[in-house]
Amino acid sequence: MSVVLAVDVGGTGLKGAVVDDRGRTLARRDRPTRLDGRGPADNLLALVADLTALAGAEEPVAVGVGTPGIVDEATGTVVYASNLGWRDVGLRALLEDATGLPVGVGHDARAAGRAEQLASGTHGSFVFVPIGTGIAAALVVEGTAVSGVSGAAGEFGHVVVHPGGEVCPCGQHGCVEAYAAGGAVVRRFRARGGEAASTAEVVALLGWDPRADEVWADAVRALALGLQGLTMLLDPAEIVLGGGVSGAGAVLLDPLGAELASLLTWRSPPPLRTARWGAQAGRVGAALLGFERAGVTPDFQLG
Ligand SMILES: [Zn+2]
Repeated sequence: MSVVLAVDVGGTGLKGAVVDDRGRTLARRDRPTRLDGRGPADNLLALVADLTALAGAEEPVAVGVGTPGIVDEATGTVVYASNLGWRDVGLRALLEDATGLPVGVGHDARAAGRAEQLASGTHGSFVFVPIGTGIAAALVVEGTAVSGVSGAAGEFGHVVVHPGGEVCPCGQHGCVEAYAAGGAVVRRFRARGGEAASTAEVVALLGWDPRADEVWADAVRALALGLQGLTMLLDPAEIVLGGGVSGAGAVLLDPLGAELASLLTWRSPPPLRTARWGAQAGRVGAALLGFERAGVTPDFQLG
């Protein structure tokens, strides 16, 4: 058995784990992305140090890091990540210097999508959409996760579904992410006078607070419009939702499936489900990047 130190970098939190080559999480440690005036890179280094200690005698073979944004996977450089304030950050060099281990750096959604693919044995085309602080997608076309010419493919969160709509952190108006990301749901609920610290708190108020109902309906609508486009372009076998917001389960899947079906007038919608790895999808995706960098082929099978 070999293990890697894996970190799924998010706009709000860094999710770390010690993961073995069967995809099992042996230990977990999380850390806020911004803490005590320290930025994401400093907190990432601190978390990797914590994970090294947690791995103990297991002697990790590599570090794997999944990050949002535009990632040059060949050099391990984050070219641009709006939620992290990163531009041309050489994460691989930084972490290899700090740990002395090989470090694989890749796009969080693509890595999680490939981990999902390994776990489900899917070789066809499907779409994996993690919904967290931001929204991205892994577009798996005939078994290959599309990365694009500059590593920027799959920015599903920044597909515009409401032209001239609300401003997105990326600077565009009316992006899917401006309505449906966890951060957007909370921000829009508060803008209506509501009080909530997380999407789960807004979801808990559905059916009780019309402001929660309104922002959730807007989130579902924005996602459905985006997924309508993806369905038309790719004809995927299924659409898999991951990330923290997908933890809402049926409260998200049921209205989203209905809305998508009503938008697709002349074809049936692809099946919608949540990720097999659930909330661990990002961590396992990051672990996959580490194993690949170390030249280890993991055997991720779910029972
Ligand atoms: Zn945007």
